[in-house]
Amino acid sequence: MNIEQFRKAGYQAIDRICDYYYALEQSKFTVLPDVEPGYLRPLLPSTAPETGEEFSRIADDYEKFIVPGYTHWQHPSFLAYFPMGFSFEGILGDLYASSVSNPGFNWLASPSCTELESIVLDWASQMLGLSASFLNSSGVGGGCFQNTASEAALVVIIAARSTYKAAFPNTKLEDMRIYTTTQTHSLGLKAGMILGISVRALEVEERDNFALRGKTLRTAIEEDKSNGLHPFILIATVGTTSSGAIDNLAEIKTVVKDYPEIKIHIDAAWAGMALVCPEYREICYLKEINDFADSFSTNFHKWGLTNFDACPLWVRDRKSLVDALDITPPFLRTAQGDAGTVIDYRNWHLGLGRRYRSVKLWFVLRGYGVEGFQKHIRRAIELNQVFVNMVSSSDLLSFVTPPFLSLSVFRISPNVSPSTSTSNHGHSTFPADTLNDINKILFGRISARKDILLTQTILNGKFCIRLAVGSARTQESHIREAYEIVTHEAKLTMEAWEQ
Ligand code: PLP
Repeated sequence: MNIEQFRKAGYQAIDRICDYYYALEQSKFTVLPDVEPGYLRPLLPSTAPETGEEFSRIADDYEKFIVPGYTHWQHPSFLAYFPMGFSFEGILGDLYASSVSNPGFNWLASPSCTELESIVLDWASQMLGLSASFLNSSGVGGGCFQNTASEAALVVIIAARSTYKAAFPNTKLEDMRIYTTTQTHSLGLKAGMILGISVRALEVEERDNFALRGKTLRTAIEEDKSNGLHPFILIATVGTTSSGAIDNLAEIKTVVKDYPEIKIHIDAAWAGMALVCPEYREICYLKEINDFADSFSTNFHKWGLTNFDACPLWVRDRKSLVDALDITPPFLRTAQGDAGTVIDYRNWHLGLGRRYRSVKLWFVLRGYGVEGFQKHIRRAIELNQVFVNMVSSSDLLSFVTPPFLSLSVFRISPNVSPSTSTSNHGHSTFPADTLNDINKILFGRISARKDILLTQTILNGKFCIRLAVGSARTQESHIREAYEIVTHEAKLTMEAWEQ
């Protein structure tokens, strides 16, 4: 393809992307595609073509074979997992980034890539209200993009391990411990698996809405230390995946004051974006994060209007990262790096080359402004409230844990006993196992539909269903429709059960 052919194909691509978004808005697609596993292989040749093909044919085949197999994460009725960030500014940012195909691993690899990342992540950090110690301009702390929240956790654990080993050189790896909770995303266990370090998942209670309490942490630390073990980092969560739980950072802060050798990483992959709104800062423990967290990570590619991927990690002490990750063979040396006058982001993450994401976030931050972000977050929370109000007045459904921000976790919990139709206006009298079976059937029924997508989870042994709002295209009508669908399927589930 030459430049002029690219121009033509590029205009056509933008036209087709616009048509796709109109089609999504007009519900011309269902959320889930109508395909079965293995649908694609018979439709495509078994080998790459011997000679290059006309791009118009390739683009047509994309429409014909690939689009029909998409799960539409930007569909207004996609209410599963957590939302995936999107904006047209974000698409254009990715397009421009791709246009220079630049690996930006050190300052010289492209000064603007490094400098824009450093500036844009300072903007983002300020927008979320993070302390000035996390700013790149501080020269001590700073922010950089990681591939995912999981990698953000992995690199801070690597850094914490190095810092701990430097302070206590005789510590054996097998005696070191990573702390998470039973509600932490799989990123904690995965990091432990990769690094060969044991992970202790601290217990949390339903009565605490699944948040880690200070007392649990202190007991675990004391117990482990008395057994010769070395806890060296806690991954605390602001907004867990299952239920939106927020670990009690006020209590955790008090405990870790007594154990300064334990680093604290905050995984706020989803809920971190709520910090853009001043009214959610207290409930998300911003003050405590600023007071004592060693690192903080959130995904702009979840609730933050930015197309996948855009996961900043902010650290209070960049030296701890660089000391742990810097390997500089001669071919990577530069005069600026040697002089220490620039950031070489290759030393802040796992790979060498890195995707050029800052231009995308720069476009999105400028396109929306802080106000636009606040509006986006508040709107999703308001839409969730619409769902909350409807579930609250339902005889059939109830919440398993209090709804938080734009997430609701609910289940069938009919307030009638199985053997009588008389309402008892109290808790469900169904045995726990029976209720789980009923809810699994309900979820199975909802999942068999293609017009809506929700996800399942288990909280304290209770099978339940999550509804997470966040797509910019979701309107109140979609939330009401979601409630109608859930109620309809719930009634059919109960009718079938009672027969
Ligand atoms: N942490 C939390 C709280 C999440 O909800 C998720 C994903 O949903 C993750 C981490 C993982 O994010 P990533 O895919 O960026 O590793």
